[in-house]
Amino acid sequence: MSALFSEEVLRRLERIVHPKHGRSVVELGMVSGIVIRGSNVGFALEVDPGEAQAMEPLRRACEDAVRALPGVTSCTVVLTAERRSGPTAPAAAPSGAPRPAPRSDSKPLVPGVRAIVAVASGKGGVGKSTTAVNLAFGLKTLGLRVGLLDADIYGPSVPRMAGASGRPVSVDGRQLRPLESFGVRCMSMGFLVDEEAPMIWRGPMVQSALQQMLADVDWGELDVMVVDLPPGTGDAQLTMAQRVPLTGAVIVSTPQDIALLDARKAINMFRKVDVPIFGIVENMSYFCCPHCGRRTEIFAHGGARACAERYGVDFLAEIPLDPLIRELSDDGRPVVVADPESPQARAYLDLARSVRDRIEAQLGRPTRRPPEIVWV
Ligand code: ADP
Repeated sequence: MSALFSEEVLRRLERIVHPKHGRSVVELGMVSGIVIRGSNVGFALEVDPGEAQAMEPLRRACEDAVRALPGVTSCTVVLTAERRSGPTAPAAAPSGAPRPAPRSDSKPLVPGVRAIVAVASGKGGVGKSTTAVNLAFGLKTLGLRVGLLDADIYGPSVPRMAGASGRPVSVDGRQLRPLESFGVRCMSMGFLVDEEAPMIWRGPMVQSALQQMLADVDWGELDVMVVDLPPGTGDAQLTMAQRVPLTGAVIVSTPQDIALLDARKAINMFRKVDVPIFGIVENMSYFCCPHCGRRTEIFAHGGARACAERYGVDFLAEIPLDPLIRELSDDGRPVVVADPESPQARAYLDLARSVRDRIEAQLGRPTRRPPEIVWV
């Protein structure tokens, strides 16, 4: 859409007045990062960290105002607080200090969702998203009702990897309906902004966006939601680990020492906020030649298993470095869906079984409700 349209958005927002300051959100310089994709509009509303809760009606008023513009079908506004103003969530206790109460401020953000599993990595490029996507489809193959939330809003790859395209629409004008791909409900900021567009999100915005993708999306009833977290262990990831009622976390690493150092940081991060760690996945663990079938351990395979032992967490799976995994991912057909009988898919299905078992152990009940008996 044209620059003129951004102007229209701003003009409309000039009508929205801050309840305390009595001036418009535009006048107060609260609006930033307007992104327009087709008929979908997104932007950030900068607020004081202490006021985030109280500003929710203002956020909604902005969304409603922009959604009422002709030609706009959806509007997503995220609240953000400047980093210098302090974190939006209590900082984690330093190691050795008493642990904070587990996610005491977490709300049942998504009431129909029985378990939320985060897939995390200490750094980017280790195959976290590939693992998250194949884990989600693996859980679906096991018969669970699955959602996939792409919280990696710096580089959303779920739309491409899960083959989900299009734009989420709102049925009731309040909640967006997730897109469905091979029976998995998917939501990603990538549906709302161009894949090529530079991501405007700063740390606190990431968390705000994530909470809204949980609360403002009509997920329906799910047995498991898989969340692809942004890579790293910064404030944003820590805050998410605290704020989102996670059932457990899966940490993805490659076998090299350098990646494992970062994986340790991820383990420590989840421990600090009392999120159960389901275990570590070693990705690109070894290479199987597609021509001769010979196995080569390019990155000194086995490092993640040793790291898991040292840190007292489970080792969940080793996934080969395999051209098929990459090609199918790039093609939007995860290997678990495209070639479910292949050894590569079986590795992900084993991972899905392990994760399902750990969810059940954590919740103390089966992940899937038994079918209801209807008397006629
Ligand atoms: P991250 O989410 O950690 O940044 P991605 O999942 O986006 O990493 O993976 C980075 C690249 O590596 C992608 O091109 C992906 O297709 C490829 N990749 C990931 N895992 C494997 C694997 N096991 N075998 C081959 N390619 C892989």
